[in-house]
Amino acid sequence: MNALNADLHCHSTASDGTLPPGEVVRRAHANGVELLALTDHDELLGLPEAAAQAQALGLRFVPGVEISVSWLDQTLHIVGLGIDPTNEALIAGLAQVRGGRDGRAARIGAELERIGIRGALEGAQRYAGNPALVSRAHFARYLVEIGISKNVHDVFLHYLARGKPGYVEHVWATLEDALAWIKGAGGLAVIAHPGRYRLSHAEMDILFERFRELGGDAIEVSCGAHDGGQLLAFARLARKFGLMASRASDFHGPEDSPIDLGRAPPLPPDLTPVWTRLV
Ligand code: AMP
Ligand code: MN
Ligand code: MN
Ligand code: MN
Repeated sequence: MNALNADLHCHSTASDGTLPPGEVVRRAHANGVELLALTDHDELLGLPEAAAQAQALGLRFVPGVEISVSWLDQTLHIVGLGIDPTNEALIAGLAQVRGGRDGRAARIGAELERIGIRGALEGAQRYAGNPALVSRAHFARYLVEIGISKNVHDVFLHYLARGKPGYVEHVWATLEDALAWIKGAGGLAVIAHPGRYRLSHAEMDILFERFRELGGDAIEVSCGAHDGGQLLAFARLARKFGLMASRASDFHGPEDSPIDLGRAPPLPPDLTPVWTRLV
């Protein structure tokens, strides 16, 4: 079961990926993925096209979403897997989260303007395949285009990460709401890329404990954002908290991602993969 090539977190043009949903699915299939979830940020729009393409190819497909959450002073991402995309509370909740993005994008554009970078809002909007979902990734692509930085990673480092001139604080969903929407829609909840959060060991423990209390199911142990040491560290935490484990590329596009679809390392054999509950 752990050897299954599952990829349970990736993006399309419905959020900040660069490939349309159908192309993401074709690429996953070509890469040998056996179980795929599309998990666009705060958005379900890409799921019908992806599901249809997966069915045409005979690839097992799981409808998903990646919800932006504010917790303590951090932004966390909670992935929902196997959600019912017609669930009204989930649809309404995601609409509310997306609703904050326009104002935030305008503020990011204004902050960049203050340091002399003109037209960033309009530039980011041009990169956004979904006008309701302007992400920092779209700003980053525009800043690379106009030669501010040589790649997207450097843009984040110097302009868009917390504490940098183009970063603006924003309040996303609560952890409680995100879990309620996912569980209410019949889904499994997964903490995405835990190694990316700037939390102390004690705070990470509090997060995992609270997540479990709220019905959380799994954490991404193997993912594009983790190095080998982090994979082992989060495997230990999954055991400690009795959480299942997920495997995820977090693919955004061929030019844009550290690892391709289906290329996240396998899970340690003793962990329970979250897909035991999905297939
Ligand atoms: P947002 O939801 O608008 O805050 O944008 C977050 C997105 O920006 C993430 O989902 C990634 O696609 C991208 N991102 C965040 N940090 C980095 C980074 N250091 N390097 C490259 N992309 C990043
Ligand atoms: Mn993204
Ligand atoms: Mn994420
Ligand atoms: Mn993601």
